[in-house]
Amino acid sequence: NPVFMLSATDVAHFPSESKTANAPEVAFLGRSNVGKSSLINSLLGAKLAHTSSTPGRTRSINFFALYEGTGSKQKAQPSLIFADLPGYGYAKISKSISSEWPQFIEPYLTERETLALAICLVDTNIPPQASDTQLITFFKQMQRPFLVVGTKADRLSNNVLSKSLAALRQAHEVDEILPISAKTDAGTKVLWQHLMEVMD
Ligand code: GDP
Repeated sequence: NPVFMLSATDVAHFPSESKTANAPEVAFLGRSNVGKSSLINSLLGAKLAHTSSTPGRTRSINFFALYEGTGSKQKAQPSLIFADLPGYGYAKISKSISSEWPQFIEPYLTERETLALAICLVDTNIPPQASDTQLITFFKQMQRPFLVVGTKADRLSNNVLSKSLAALRQAHEVDEILPISAKTDAGTKVLWQHLMEVMD
């Protein structure tokens, strides 16, 4: 059973080793409305993630702990942590995503030792966004492992979807974008395989 751990608005709030048991962490990032909370909830099988905070609301990193086993066989220590990061892309004229983000985000992405994989969500229903390119470039420069996932794939026909994915791959300069739907669960199995890999 997944459990909501805490909501961090400062580096000092990030869950400590005593809470995470050094379990690998997977971060979810994307523009507001990309479908991040829908995907997290679909992966967790529980409605724990809330729609990206709107401007003005507290923007935090929300941590969820996932445990292997069920009932009396459930492990005491989490085997995976999900980190739900605040949405970005509010600013009409995008300067840099870091200027829009609260101070504690960059240290999280660059210094968090247990961060094993960042899931960068991009919407397959809209043209490539400069703010997404910025984020992906950031991960490339940091040499941090990331995976680009294309959301809301159910809304497009196969033909339109493959064209959209090609345009996104080209704009963001990535080899692979995994199409996914939180609505139909298409692609979530493949995504889980990527998540399982970080647990080994
Ligand atoms: P967030 O702001 O990134 O957390 O986005 P939400 O998960 O709240 O989703 C934003 C909107 O997109 C909501 O209206 C969702 O119902 C819709 N949405 C999210 N995921 C999907 C999906 O896989 N398929 C479809 N058709 N709609 C989706």
